[in-house]
Amino acid sequence: MNNNIPTESLERLISSADSIVIIGHFNPDGDSIGSITGMYQYLAGRGKNVCAISPSSYPDFLSFLNPKGNPILVYTENKDAVQKALDSADLIICQDLNRLSRTEQMAEGIKRAKAPKVLIDHHPNPEREWFDVVISDTEVSSTCELVFDILMTMPDVAGDTSKLSLECATSLYSGLLTDTNNYSNSLFPDTLTVASALMARGIDSKQIYYNLFCSYSESRMRLMGKMLDNMIIIPEYKTAYMLLSLEDKAAFNFKDGDSEGFVNLPLAIDGIEITALLAQTPDFIRVSLRSKGDINVNDLAHSYFNGGGHVNASGGRLFDVPWSEVGSYFENALACWKKGTTFVK
Ligand code: 5GP
Ligand code: MN
Repeated sequence: MNNNIPTESLERLISSADSIVIIGHFNPDGDSIGSITGMYQYLAGRGKNVCAISPSSYPDFLSFLNPKGNPILVYTENKDAVQKALDSADLIICQDLNRLSRTEQMAEGIKRAKAPKVLIDHHPNPEREWFDVVISDTEVSSTCELVFDILMTMPDVAGDTSKLSLECATSLYSGLLTDTNNYSNSLFPDTLTVASALMARGIDSKQIYYNLFCSYSESRMRLMGKMLDNMIIIPEYKTAYMLLSLEDKAAFNFKDGDSEGFVNLPLAIDGIEITALLAQTPDFIRVSLRSKGDINVNDLAHSYFNGGGHVNASGGRLFDVPWSEVGSYFENALACWKKGTTFVK
């Protein structure tokens, strides 16, 4: 547990605010939804008028984290209500994103909003210019771990986990579990200390695991089988990648979140060090990258896939590559990145 986070200015901003908006990133994962609902529960417990916002819809399996009576507002489904919340906020807290563009179309509205802005994040190189307070730490598993550390320093909690509600603890634990892929990566000694403290608080760790990892449909499992069957291996670069087309999505009744975890699977192969999932959407190709050890896929995502992320888990998008050419684009990009040569499309 990191007890040395300077949170005095955050505490001052929270004390003097009544309406507080908390925002996660586009295409939210368990850490994004867990950290905004965890912070929501803490602030609501302090009597604040809180609104948790996701820039885009979240998968069904995360809906158990929704605050009762005041569910997460989804920007793409309710733009007017979100804008109203931003305009009337006394404080805006952005979490689990290192640049405002990770909120996509919400970014301009956030910049325009008059309220002071705070960033709480664990990605490298946070964009500081839009924020009054930045709490950034890359030496944690997840934003949820960082939020836990921050809450422990708040005067009303003062290190006493019993002061966190069960809902808050459940949300924070969910981000730990998902961002570490069930404690297999991004793990720091303090991560397990925080997990232990949350378990001691009384969360139902088994049920949370079931909700997060065992609530998929049969068709999702069969789609996973097809993806693995068609996986392509590039032995030279110790890389495996998979393609998920719109056609396959339709054939397997694909729902938001169904491809969560696919990209990690080929890492289980001995000798494979980089994996990728390239998924077709109506507007762009979504790219997910994973790696072992110090292979920095954040750099690969940044260099060739309009994205970024962490050393071992990154993502991005392709806008101008036809679906039929995406495999060769990936293979070319990877070869150039590995050899340090210039990419020719
Ligand atoms: P995933 O592959 O699970 O979608 O994303 C893995 C990580 O990559 C996320 O936690 C996030 O940090 C980063 N990431 C995913 N998509 C993007 C993107 O479009 N842009 C940037 N900058 N980072 C992304
Ligand atoms: Mn995260």
